[in-house]
Amino acid sequence: NQLNMQQQLIDSFGRQMDYVRLAVTDRCNLRCQYCMPAHGIEIAPRADLLTFKEMYRIIRVLTELGVTKIRLTGGEPFVRKDFVGFLEMLSFNDLLEAINITTNGAMISKHIPVLEKMDKIKHINLSIDSLQKEKFNKITRRDVFPEVYETFKALEKSSLNLKLNVVVQPGFNTDEIVDFVALTKNNNVAVRFIEEMPFNGKGQREMKENWNYTRILEEIKTKFDAKPIVSEKSSTSKNFRVDGHKGTVGIIPAFTRTICGDCNRIRITPIGTFKNCLFDDGVFNIRDFLRNGASNDQLKELFLKLVKEKPANGFIAEANRKEGNVSESMSTIGG
Ligand code: SAM
Ligand code: SF4
Repeated sequence: NQLNMQQQLIDSFGRQMDYVRLAVTDRCNLRCQYCMPAHGIEIAPRADLLTFKEMYRIIRVLTELGVTKIRLTGGEPFVRKDFVGFLEMLSFNDLLEAINITTNGAMISKHIPVLEKMDKIKHINLSIDSLQKEKFNKITRRDVFPEVYETFKALEKSSLNLKLNVVVQPGFNTDEIVDFVALTKNNNVAVRFIEEMPFNGKGQREMKENWNYTRILEEIKTKFDAKPIVSEKSSTSKNFRVDGHKGTVGIIPAFTRTICGDCNRIRITPIGTFKNCLFDDGVFNIRDFLRNGASNDQLKELFLKLVKEKPANGFIAEANRKEGNVSESMSTIGG
């Protein structure tokens, strides 16, 4: 009914937001080349980060406006003290149907049994850009490949749905694209290749070649007959399956942005900035609004108003930026 519709997060293009991506920290234990400089990024003072209590409240209000799924990311979510406790806390929100997590997997293997026990935790996205130790270390600038690979194996065997995120980096791992596809033969895993974006703390990297969606698909097809499969409308990836393979392969056109039309998501950064799009430069600081004593009804009103400003797509969001081209680290936004 009319009244109910007014209490839903629907943008000016009629898109309903039912998914929120929350970055629980800007800190990270790795230094991936495409995400941040070798010396890391300037992290926010601890007091500027949202507390778990504040996050819980923001999410509760969002779920009362129709959000049903959350993805927790960062930085590295498991770096934040008592992140697992926060997962337990979030599980109490009866309006939340799914809690998904994106992690680099370097410190989580011991938590897997606990994660499996939490009903709402359905999907884990594990970032792994190379299957070769030396190369992996070069990309992440840390020596953690064995631990991440162990995590991969453990998650594959677990009851959790596993997706692997592979950022395609010319000069580093394009030769491994087919190896990752081969991994789907015997593993029940969704491998997703992501176009690299200039969110790395300094802007567009020097690149010898442009590996976009089309190029990645061509590379897959040099060795595999990958057939398109149907994906959920709001899926960020176009998905494929090779006959006889247990897992699937997807490509995320993160930079060429051909998926924006069906966007169903909003974002909240570690310092509480509300974002309508990955490519905007932040539309409102909810943390200050909360700390100044806003009520839940005021928060609701605010969210309903903010989503009306959601741009049609990531190109328009980028053009509207006040602070110039994108160059901030993914770690401060929440990838
Ligand atoms: N630390 C966790 C991890 O690496 O999975 C979660 C945060 S990370 C920012 C989330 C995802 O964004 C990762 O899969 C990462 O590979 C991806 N990412 C980071 N920087 C990127 C960039 N410049 N272009 C494309 N993807 C990027
Ligand atoms: Fe850390 Fe993830 Fe960024 Fe790598 S991609 S530096 S693991 S936040």
